Amino acid sequence: MIVKQKKMDKRLKYKINLDTIYASASSIGLSAIKTIRISGNETKKIFKALTKKSLPKARYCKLINLYDIKNFSVIDKAIVVWFPAPKTYTGENILEINIHGGNSVLEHLIENLLLIRNVREAEPGEFTRRAFTNNKMDFLEAEGVMDLINAETKSQKSLAMQQVNGSLSTIFKKWNNKLLKLLAHYEGQIDFPEDEVPKNTEKKVISQVIDLIKEMNFFLSDKKRGDIIRSGVEIAIVGRPNVGKSSLVNQIAKKDIAIVSKTSGTTRDVIETKINLSNIPVILSDTAGLKDSPRNNIEKQGVLRSKQRIKNCNIKLLVMDVTCNFEKKILKLVCNKTIIILNKKDLLSKKKIGSKINYLKEKNFKRISVISAKKGTGINNLLNDLENYIKDRYKNVFFGEPVLTRTRHRAALKKCLSNLKKINKNKDPELNAEDLRLSLNAIGNVTGKYEIEKMLDIVFKDFCIGK
Ligand code: GDP
Repeated sequence: MIVKQKKMDKRLKYKINLDTIYASASSIGLSAIKTIRISGNETKKIFKALTKKSLPKARYCKLINLYDIKNFSVIDKAIVVWFPAPKTYTGENILEINIHGGNSVLEHLIENLLLIRNVREAEPGEFTRRAFTNNKMDFLEAEGVMDLINAETKSQKSLAMQQVNGSLSTIFKKWNNKLLKLLAHYEGQIDFPEDEVPKNTEKKVISQVIDLIKEMNFFLSDKKRGDIIRSGVEIAIVGRPNVGKSSLVNQIAKKDIAIVSKTSGTTRDVIETKINLSNIPVILSDTAGLKDSPRNNIEKQGVLRSKQRIKNCNIKLLVMDVTCNFEKKILKLVCNKTIIILNKKDLLSKKKIGSKINYLKEKNFKRISVISAKKGTGINNLLNDLENYIKDRYKNVFFGEPVLTRTRHRAALKKCLSNLKKINKNKDPELNAEDLRLSLNAIGNVTGKYEIEKMLDIVFKDFCIGK
């Protein structure tokens, strides 16, 4: 009887997906080799139909001819690997076919795959979605896979790898288990009200709640480390029109992404450029020039968006024309996240520039860079200063412990905490149990144990495999 139950559980665990899906694991375009992965019930049938042979040894490469199902012509000589369920990425049978990379070979193979019933192209992220439904990974790990694919710098890659390997999941699971134990304590009191709880036990329970609150607070007070690594350090380039903001972005990005023009206020909107600064992902925003009286609605919108960006950025580069007088209004924009950039140094003598720097230093402005965005001088020094500043300001950001990488992690943890803080030794055990249940639900939303369908859509919405 027990054995039968176990078999049933196993069958339930590996939920049956009707369709068999395929996707090219390689990017579109010419390449020497392309890999096609197929997952689902019809995988064995596909192998037999294409090769006329019996299944090869599991997890071994086999060189084999693939034949057209209709006319027996050779599609390609391929290397195939057979991965039987359940020890696969999706938890289903998987067949990997490595063919020559030409588009016609790929098309010929796909034509044949589509001749088999219940076979279709995978939707973006569907392999990972199946891995999730078959309990191969939780939401955090699935998000990690998505981040790993999108990672552009080493720090982004190592953060994503941590999440794929389950280090963040482990922390959430640990919290989940602790909360469950606390819940069991209060449930016990509800079920056996006649058993008196020793005072000592109640004290221990409350001290565990306090420890848990401290631990979660620590994770929330990480200055959004994970978000910064994942999305990049946001640097806004601000200043009056015509001071050389766009020219500076072009120098840094080494490509013409912003229009450099003598007409005031050409950059009407916020233009973003992603750069990799010694493995630190950086998003440079070239904001519209700060104008006192925008001429029309478009310029007004541009100035508004610039102000928003300036407010939210991690670092502000305030560009000023060194040949002009410093305006009090502009200097008021300097805050603890600002680097002042004096541009157009090619137009002024060293002596005059020196006295301008002294003036700023007297006013207690410390971080100052002097450049010529037109000639490209001083840019390397500026980038060095910027790198050191980022490393100093975000100490430990790019190394260290697992971190929360998304707003939804943070929101769930806050919700969990707010309920946890309501637990009180003088309260009715039923009410404490209810608060703990709400805390558990909040945590469960992060790893994907509760409200699964709702969370699935959020996590898989922007998956980009094959697109
Ligand atoms: P923005 O409005 O602040 O983005 O300014 P731009 O980058 O469009 O530059 C405005 C004008 O100043 C253009 O004609 C640039 O060629 C010129 N300019 C920018 N940087 C320098 C510089 O370092 N030296 C000189 N001489 N001209 C510059």
